[in-house]
Amino acid sequence: LLSADNQLGVTIFEEITTLANRHGAINLGQGFPDTEGPAAIAEIAKQAISDGLNQYAPGSGSPDLRTAVAEHQARFHGQVLDPDTEVVITTGATEGIAAAVLAFVSSGDEVVTFEPFYDSYGATIALSGGVHRTVPLLAPDFQPDPEQLSSVVSDRTRMIILNNPHNPTGAVFGREVLEHIVALAIKHDALILSDEVYEHLTFGVEHIPVSTLEGAGDRTLTLSSAGKTFSFTGWKVGWATGPAHLVAALRTVKQFLSYSSGPAFQPAVAAALRLPTGFFTGFAADLGARGEILATGLDQAGMTVYRPRGTYFIVADVAPLGFTDAAVLARSMPELIGVAGIPLSVFCHPEGADRTRSLMRFAFCKREDVLIEASRRLSRLS
Ligand code: PMP
Ligand code: GLN
Repeated sequence: LLSADNQLGVTIFEEITTLANRHGAINLGQGFPDTEGPAAIAEIAKQAISDGLNQYAPGSGSPDLRTAVAEHQARFHGQVLDPDTEVVITTGATEGIAAAVLAFVSSGDEVVTFEPFYDSYGATIALSGGVHRTVPLLAPDFQPDPEQLSSVVSDRTRMIILNNPHNPTGAVFGREVLEHIVALAIKHDALILSDEVYEHLTFGVEHIPVSTLEGAGDRTLTLSSAGKTFSFTGWKVGWATGPAHLVAALRTVKQFLSYSSGPAFQPAVAAALRLPTGFFTGFAADLGARGEILATGLDQAGMTVYRPRGTYFIVADVAPLGFTDAAVLARSMPELIGVAGIPLSVFCHPEGADRTRSLMRFAFCKREDVLIEASRRLSRLS
């Protein structure tokens, strides 16, 4: 099982971050912010530890946090959820992905994802014994071709995993694409697992949760996380929402993965979810502006830049600089110029890797001065 083929070796994030640290490089590889999340929120976690909230939390998450998640879904997405049966707290969205796949996918079942795909989809599908089918997202806009999508989803499809906004391409799927996915899921009686960890990080486009579309509600599990929205990626507090029968199955598996998640972080994340709407829109606007700084830097360095509509990430093509393989460049760049990025090919099966050979992903969830310095260093590639 532990072979490079099924991507269960050391994750690319670990590998590139280790290289970046070894060479003191600016790490635009692994997606984590270099600024702290809101101080008042961190204070709540500190206080909770001092107050003795240090033993196991309830397996499905504290009732108050589940209520805060339900309030958040109502405020931003107009959804009415029962916090007891339709919300479960997970140890990051990562656990939600694993629990959902292991709960529903049996050996031989097909699971459809878009490609490039976030690494843990490939790994958890492999762990479940499922068969991973993919639909390519191609530059420049990284939107799926409807016919191709229709041809990959079939009666053998148990689950369609959607990541919207999409890591690594920065694409945001519009209503038409989402409706097509829902129609296919209904036609072939497939479940939808929608990973929306970047739900608040869009730049000038609306994020539409697929679960809000007609016909999707009773077959969709939605995942999100405090990591991206509140810049606390290390806290590993996420949540899954959906109809009670799907949430119950996910919760059953979750019990045997982590059982429960960090109790002191839960009141803090509950407070974060209740922050005024201006926090969410302000953070996205600020992040989008930082994305533009890096996009300009990549442009000036001579790469072809595909500007993102959401997430932490920009994809750029390094071929105009004479580099044919972004994976080779990514492994030498930390030492060569003191900047780290992630090759897109690692988010792909071999065929997709060929299509994305010269593409690299850069994270812009970094301070402005860091992005300016990274841009200066990147210009040495040309
Ligand atoms: N899904 C996607 C698309 C991601 O980029 C990430 C990485 N943050 C995760 C899931 C994992 O989220 P968490 O850190 O909450 O486990
Ligand atoms: N989600 C982050 C990224 O895509 C990294 C998470 C991880 O290291 N597993 O870069």
